[in-house]
Amino acid sequence: MTEKRAVHVAIVGAGMSGICMAAKLQDAGIDTFTIFEQADEVGGTWRDNTYPGLHCDVPSRFYSYTFRSNPEWSRLLPPGNEVQSYFTQVATERGIRAHIRFGTPVASAEFRDGKWWVSTADGAEPFDVLITATGILRVPRYPDIPGLDTFAGPTFHSSRWDRSVSLQDKRIGLIGTGSTGVQITAELGGRVRGLTIFQRTPQWVFPFPNPRYSPITKAALRRFPAMSRFGYRFWQAVYENFFAKAMVAPGLRRRLVSAMCRWNLNLSVRDPELRRKLTPDYQAMCKRIVAAGHYYQSVQKPGVEVVVEPIDHVEPRGIVTADGALHELDLLVIATGFDAHAYTRPMEIIGEDSVSLDDAWTDGPQAYRSVAVPGFPNMFMLMGPHSPIGQQSLVIIAENQADYAMWWIERIRDGEIEAAAPTDIATKDYNEQMKSAMPQTVWTTGCNSWYLDKHGLPELFPWEPVRHRRLLASPERSDFEVRTPQT
Ligand code: NAP
Repeated sequence: MTEKRAVHVAIVGAGMSGICMAAKLQDAGIDTFTIFEQADEVGGTWRDNTYPGLHCDVPSRFYSYTFRSNPEWSRLLPPGNEVQSYFTQVATERGIRAHIRFGTPVASAEFRDGKWWVSTADGAEPFDVLITATGILRVPRYPDIPGLDTFAGPTFHSSRWDRSVSLQDKRIGLIGTGSTGVQITAELGGRVRGLTIFQRTPQWVFPFPNPRYSPITKAALRRFPAMSRFGYRFWQAVYENFFAKAMVAPGLRRRLVSAMCRWNLNLSVRDPELRRKLTPDYQAMCKRIVAAGHYYQSVQKPGVEVVVEPIDHVEPRGIVTADGALHELDLLVIATGFDAHAYTRPMEIIGEDSVSLDDAWTDGPQAYRSVAVPGFPNMFMLMGPHSPIGQQSLVIIAENQADYAMWWIERIRDGEIEAAAPTDIATKDYNEQMKSAMPQTVWTTGCNSWYLDKHGLPELFPWEPVRHRRLLASPERSDFEVRTPQT
């Protein structure tokens, strides 16, 4: 029997995906891994986002690792701080923190002489495998509005919320009506001196009530862990058989989601003028669908105004719209989203023959089955291009992708292979197939969203998530250029 070799794995990022990868390595008996984390705490997007009203719009049972259920979730859709505590707890109880180098951003990773050389301010270190777990919605996107920096009051991006600023006494200007803007409105509407929402495009809002779990339910969940597993499977089935199917193919489900969003709007907003302002002219789910319980109720509270006139500029007293009106404000919140196409940037990744990932992706990000890139051996991406992020819980995606990386890592550990990267042909073929499936999806039905790449094509998985899971569960060695110890 051949002796197993020590495989050294570098994971970049200690968010939900990085912790997941670490747990999978531990389960396989591998503790020779290091997680590089630029911040001082785990959690990624859940650490960075602390805005009022923040909660996850995927049910808590399903937004959990399969290997660690949580009977303590307080609500169906968990508040952001609970999600953050959950990931922190998993990292602590599994001893993952000891592997994390906090406050250590990775400047570059270069594949040289069969190793990944990971460079930080402390120097360069070799690893056998590189896992990028840098998240999707990490780099805040700021609008290019003239005079934005001249505003006299506090101004911050929703993902950089300044908790020291009081809210009740403020006239707040909110730019953006995506999931974030909607959650902030639902929380602050009617509770602050004024809330002026600057809406460029209305959103379809899917009615999703958010009940609390009672103490009895929590006690039962603690006593019978199978109940949590059932909850997970239930919500997985709802997402995979309803929302995901509606997104990737036209039909009854898609029409039903549209009808529910329209009913939600029509039944909740009585004023025809306000209803007109809030009615989108594109199909529900074309943009990332917003799931919320009481957004429309909050919009109609006293002191809340929806401004649809385009923003012209910002001046010290507030926002001036194209009609010349000055909207006087004390605080400006920028909820304009993220650069979802940044992937691992600004970290530089250099593969074989000194080709950088930026060079390889001049025509847009392309990966093999969302996890691997030709010319970048032993590199696996979690939440890489065309992951099924539109139609699924990101936690299950991370688990499936981490399991896929483990398949290769175990072969490296067994001495069966030294390095593997997908072939150009297999990757092109896969991306061509995805491209031809895109017109069926709802994301191409005529709207602008962060899902779209620079060619206007969705950077999402155009089929049902079960297909992604199956693709990752059955690695095809023939699609890879494999270097064995003999070659
Ligand atoms: P987003 O969906 O990208 O929305 C950005 C908003 O800002 C849009 O309304 C956009 O208008 C507006 N905007 C952008 N530039 C503007 C400008 N120059 N002037 C005026 N308005 C401008 O960002 P997000 O709301 O932060 O959400 C991003 C994603 O984060 C969501 O889709 C979701 O996947 C995730 N998220 C998840 C949760 C959760 O519960 N799991 C919570 C919050 C966010 P246009 O529509 O016209 O572009």
